[in-house]
Amino acid sequence: YGKWSEKYGGYFKQSEMRELIRYAALRNIEIIPEIDLPGHSRNIASVHPEIRCNYPPDTVSTNGYDYRSAWCVAREENYALLGDILGELCELFPSEYIHVGGDEVDMSQWERCPDCRALMKREGMTDPHRLEDLFMERMAAILRSHGKRPAVWNEAVRTGAFARECRVHGWESVKACLDATAKGYRTVVMPGQYFYFDMRQSPREDGHDWAAIFDAKKVYGFGFTEFSPEQMRNVEGLQGAFFSEAYVSHEPEKPDYLDYMLFPRVCALARIAWSGNAEGWDAYYEELKGKHYDRMAAMGIRFRLFPPKVGYGDGAFTASADDGSAIYYLMDGSPEEHPYTAPVRTGKPHLYRFYSRYGTARSPYVADKSRWRTITPAVAITTSMGESAKFPYANAESYKGLSRTRRACRQQDWIRYTFGEPVRCREMYLQTGNRQLPKTIVTTGYAEVSYDGATFERAGELEMGSITLRPGRPVKAVRIVSTCDDNGTPYVTIQPPQVKPAL
Ligand SMILES: [Zn+2]
Repeated sequence: YGKWSEKYGGYFKQSEMRELIRYAALRNIEIIPEIDLPGHSRNIASVHPEIRCNYPPDTVSTNGYDYRSAWCVAREENYALLGDILGELCELFPSEYIHVGGDEVDMSQWERCPDCRALMKREGMTDPHRLEDLFMERMAAILRSHGKRPAVWNEAVRTGAFARECRVHGWESVKACLDATAKGYRTVVMPGQYFYFDMRQSPREDGHDWAAIFDAKKVYGFGFTEFSPEQMRNVEGLQGAFFSEAYVSHEPEKPDYLDYMLFPRVCALARIAWSGNAEGWDAYYEELKGKHYDRMAAMGIRFRLFPPKVGYGDGAFTASADDGSAIYYLMDGSPEEHPYTAPVRTGKPHLYRFYSRYGTARSPYVADKSRWRTITPAVAITTSMGESAKFPYANAESYKGLSRTRRACRQQDWIRYTFGEPVRCREMYLQTGNRQLPKTIVTTGYAEVSYDGATFERAGELEMGSITLRPGRPVKAVRIVSTCDDNGTPYVTIQPPQVKPAL
């Protein structure tokens, strides 16, 4: 998930891994490795392309990239290689369970593969999920021969055919956990909507949002209300998750972002996992503020505070915090922070941001709604890279969705936004790529602004595929120009422009 030009990752030697396992064990932490199988395997397929299904990939429509990500179930040699890999893992890790994945398998690859199709026919299968059952059963057999048990994601037990000795990690939803426990599987309850701590905590903060946007209060609110006593007996416990490979753009070498995303959400998770939430949020919040905040601050954890209450009316801001934190505010155009001590009078509320601090902690910014208001002037998008049929320019032009180009960018490729009428705005944010993830972007390039629709002048460099423009006069058109060859994916994503009106 890094930028195309930015490589990250690495490896541990077995001796280093042993040291890490020992370090964790001394602190009562067990490290359980996961190798995601049979999907999510593009990594090994780039080294051993022969493990994939045997059919010509669509390398033309995907700009030459072979996106096949699943192991071929019918290729017998694959199981020898997997026996080697899992055997090595089993030897290295003392844990009883080894996680072998089973999630998000692209089964269309098996349906196109003559070998997999022949195998299905031979076995009398009509559902490709049965192929996954067969594959996962082979993984379980390898683990069994090493005295281990399999852990899997909830999709692996969809048909209910997989061995009951496995441990299921229910990630997709509460329903997935209900299904797995009803089928009699020991289940770790970890629905992403409650316990994926790489999700953002409020709409304008950093983080992903594909599962949900939630804070510690929602984590605390998780209950087992829908689980029957029989299902509860199959609940192994609760788990939180943070998928750290997707935060390369947040300086992963520093703990600040991780701290902010985890705490106090993980405190709330620990509380409900140990003792439930019968006492209610208000009582727990008092305890959080009264005890845990100071404890975390003393440990140097840069945790997140709940936002202060900020209101704007009759030409003045008022702010208050219920957790003993100090409130500060900033005005656009100045880096200076002002302590909030009394109502702040202003006729331009959109220029102000408030936040609070307590020890090592800070809250997200809070502002008046005028700061966030955007307008949707008529715009036409054109590019030099062609238009995706599935994600046409009209999606971003309507401000309702995203668009894609037909191919990735090369040097001098461009994306042009032409407005129906010249637009008066104080800020215009243009973004390529996915939100929160520097992927499918114009990796390097610059933006040009035109006030007459004919002549363009350079307005700044892209940063992570995006740029914020602050044009001094009405804008007729803007152009993003690529200075890179390729972005490591088959296309460029174009988000709708975010235009903030002149106030
Ligand atoms: Zn196959």
